[in-house]
Amino acid sequence: VLSVRDLRVAFGHNEAVHGLSFDIHRGETLALVGESGSGKSATALSILRLIEREGGRIVGGSIRLAGDCLTDITRLCASELRALRGDRVAMVFQEPMTSLNPVMTIGAQICETLTLHRGLRGAAAREAARAALERVKVPDPAQRLDQYPHELSGGLRQRVMIAMALSCEPEVLIADEPTTALDVTTQAEILRLIASLQREMGMAVLFITHDLGVVSQIADRVVVMKDGEKIEEGHTADLFANPRADYTKELMAASP
Ligand code: ATP
Ligand code: MG
Repeated sequence: VLSVRDLRVAFGHNEAVHGLSFDIHRGETLALVGESGSGKSATALSILRLIEREGGRIVGGSIRLAGDCLTDITRLCASELRALRGDRVAMVFQEPMTSLNPVMTIGAQICETLTLHRGLRGAAAREAARAALERVKVPDPAQRLDQYPHELSGGLRQRVMIAMALSCEPEVLIADEPTTALDVTTQAEILRLIASLQREMGMAVLFITHDLGVVSQIADRVVVMKDGEKIEEGHTADLFANPRADYTKELMAASP
């Protein structure tokens, strides 16, 4: 469903991604793994066309979503961008506190997303928001709607972000280090949640992490990145059993 070809991304004169290609199919979880600074987030932000907002630019290659080209910058109008970010591709970040509005209730934020992308308002939006929280197994979803982000634990906030991301039933979910800021138990719960939602809803998942331990729990396939380039790609079990690149072996040796 998503096809990235020879993607090159630059910040000023500094090229962060030098020709990256991969495909993600429907119903599949692909992990993008690499150390800090390898260009994982730059790749994710390029898919959502949020990279320009971070001061970066796509300088080469193409990104296609179900055949539609996303890299033809000048041709995407505001409504197409809005459809892209949320309707078709949704993203959850490492720290949900930075992407949730601190002065707006959880319910109001989910309802706003539902109004923007699905045209739902009033009681219909509120019921859809409650159902979205129920789907991500937030306890007492109806009461949570009236709470503010700071009243929730980190794990619950991440569930709310996932609920919001999935409320528009996207074709692709991008998760950029969604569990890094959480304790180990909560981390495992969120991973299980994403895996079960993926089976239930059938979307493709691009899971970004620097942690190979997480990869073995969640991914069908893995792309290993270093300094903006793809080092190795393979099915998770094959890659773990038989890593070809020295760099992949090094990463494995370094992970507990
Ligand atoms: P991490 O694991 O730390 O999140 P990453 O793999 O996501 O790392 P990126 O954030 O994609 O890495 O960064 C890739 C390269 O681009 C790095 O060298 C970084 O310094 C540079 N870079 C990232 N964001 C910016 C920015 N806003 N302005 C300038 N350079 C940037
Ligand atoms: Mg990153």
